[in-house]
Amino acid sequence: MTLFDKIINREIPADIVYEDEHVLAFRDIAPQAPVHVLVIPKRRIVNIISAEPEDRDLLGRLLLAAGEVARLEGLADDGYRLVINNGEHGGQSVYHIHVHVLGGRRLGWPPFPPSKAGA
Ligand code: AMP
Repeated sequence: MTLFDKIINREIPADIVYEDEHVLAFRDIAPQAPVHVLVIPKRRIVNIISAEPEDRDLLGRLLLAAGEVARLEGLADDGYRLVINNGEHGGQSVYHIHVHVLGGRRLGWPPFPPSKAGA
């Protein structure tokens, strides 16, 4: 159970922009771009590290929903970025898989500072 289950269950508020039977999307509380939406499956998958073959259909739905959210947010013409952080080194802070949909400005690459110890 994470705070995202509470958002799914409407126990804490969120600015929901898209919902279907399997997926929910809401605005990130600390946006890193003019558009920053999180897309989550209603059934919890922790992350890609722990995903199983039986999650294939739901993961596909998650990515297609992320594309639909981007289209609804008006990002399709100029482009956008999808991010899934996985585990500690990946920067994951909520252990319920989520796709960050980021757009509305040109995004830098690489998205992280280089390590002093090398790439
Ligand atoms: P990650 O670091 O990839 O696990 O992303 C978790 C994201 O959840 C962060 O970008 C947070 O800003 C966002 N977040 C945390 N709490 C909330 C909340 N209550 N509503 C919306 N977004 C949240």
